[in-house]
Amino acid sequence: MAKKASLATARVVPVILAFIVAYVSYVVVGPLSINYLINGPRVRIAAGIALPIIWFFLLLPVAATYLRLLLVVSRNPGYTELGDADGTAARKEPPPEFWMRDVFACDQRGLPVWCQYCRNWKPDRAHHSQDAGRCTLKMDHFCPWVGGVVGERSVNFFLQFLFYATLLAAYGTALLGYFVHESRADVQINVALGLAGFFLLFTLGMVVNSFFLVSRNTTTIENIDNRGRTMLLAVLLPPELQPTQYPSSAGLILPASASLNGPYDAGSDNGPPRTGEHPVTSEIDDPSHSSYFTNNSGTNWALRRASRSEFWRGTVTYPLSPAEGRPLRTFAILETPPGMNPWDLGSPWCNMKNIMGSKLHHWLLPLRHSPCCDHSSNVSFYPLGPQFEAFLDSAGLVQRPSRRYDPGSLVTSSRRSATRKRRLGEGWQNGERPDGWVSEKAARRVLRQTHRRDAM
Ligand SMILES: [Zn+2]
Repeated sequence: MAKKASLATARVVPVILAFIVAYVSYVVVGPLSINYLINGPRVRIAAGIALPIIWFFLLLPVAATYLRLLLVVSRNPGYTELGDADGTAARKEPPPEFWMRDVFACDQRGLPVWCQYCRNWKPDRAHHSQDAGRCTLKMDHFCPWVGGVVGERSVNFFLQFLFYATLLAAYGTALLGYFVHESRADVQINVALGLAGFFLLFTLGMVVNSFFLVSRNTTTIENIDNRGRTMLLAVLLPPELQPTQYPSSAGLILPASASLNGPYDAGSDNGPPRTGEHPVTSEIDDPSHSSYFTNNSGTNWALRRASRSEFWRGTVTYPLSPAEGRPLRTFAILETPPGMNPWDLGSPWCNMKNIMGSKLHHWLLPLRHSPCCDHSSNVSFYPLGPQFEAFLDSAGLVQRPSRRYDPGSLVTSSRRSATRKRRLGEGWQNGERPDGWVSEKAARRVLRQTHRRDAM
C-alpha cells in the first residue's frame, strides 16, 4: 500500500514541479518583462530583456541536473543483484568479494548482512528500500522528486540539482519580490512570488541538510539514531594472528558475549538474526578459548590483548567450509562503539571530495558518477577514516602499545578528528593497511591508478 502510494507520488511530483517552473517562467517573461517592464508605464527595455535571460541562464543547470538525475534513478540507481528464487544456494557461502576484502559489515556470526527480500548478501552501507523493493548501494533516501532511490550513483547529481534549484528559487523570489513591492498590481506576479518563495524555503532546507550529511560522510538513513548506533564489522586479523590450519569443528560456538538481540545494523531490514546453519565461528570466539593459539606462544599476547577488548565479539574464518588451495582468512568480529562512523574520512573537505570529486568541473557538471562508486579497493567497500583507525587501535589489532578507547577521541566532530594527531599514518584511509600489517601492493597500485585517472 505504502509502496503504491509513494510510486504514485513519484509519478505526480515531477509533473507538478515542471508545471510550477513553467508557470513562473511564463510570469517572468510575459506579465513581468513584456507587459510591465517593456510595455508598462515606465519603459525599461534593458531590464525587460536581461532579467528573463538571467532566469533562463539559471534554469538551464537545474533542468540538466534534474534530467541526469531522472536518467540515473530510472535506469540504475545502484541496485544490488537479486538472489535466486529461494536464495539457498547463494546463502551457503558469501562470495569471495566480501571476505577477500579486509573489512566488511557483518552480522553476529561474521557473515555479511543478508537481505531477505532481495535474497542476497548486502555490501556495506547498502539498504533495502521498501518503496523500490530493492537494495541500493549507499542508499540515501527514496526521493519523490525524482521518483526513485537516491544512492551512490545519483547522490552527487542530487546535490547539484538542489544547489542550482536553490539559486534559481532565490533569484526568482528576489526578482518577483522586488517588482511586487514596486507595482503591487499583477495577481500573476504575486502568485509566482508565492511559488518561488515556497520553493526557496524548501530547497534551502534540503540543500543545507544534504551538504551537512555529505560533509560527515553519512546518509539520511545512517543519520537516524546516529549517536546510539553500533554496528558489527568483520576485520581481518593481522598476519601474526592468522591461524595456520583450519579451526577444528569441536569448539564452534557463538561467542558468549554477543547479544542476539543487540543492534547490529542501522537498516533493521534484515529480519531476525539467523541461527547457525553452518560452523562459522572458531574456538577463539570466546576469549577464554584463546588456547587455540597456545602452540604459537609468540603471538599469544597479541591475541589475548585483542580478545580482551570490549569490542571483541568473536571470530570467523573464511572460506566457511574447508577448500583445498584456498588461503584461510580469519576475521575478528568487532562491535563499534555507539555513534562511530568508520567512513568519516576525517574532515568535511575530504568527505565532500569523496562524494563530489576532486576537480571543479566534477562539482559543477552532472557528468561523472561520484568517486564513492569506485569499489576496486581490496581493503573495504568504501574508504575507511581515522575513527576506524583509532577503533582498530583500541581493539588491540595494531602492533604497537594499545591505548584505551577514549570516547572523546572517537565520537567527536570531524574537525577534532582531523586535528587529532594521526596514530596510524595514512594507512586505511588511502586504501592501505596500517603499520604492522602486510602492505598490499595491489591496493597501492589501484590507488595510483585512481590518482592518475583523476589527474587526466
Ligand atoms: Zn533488499
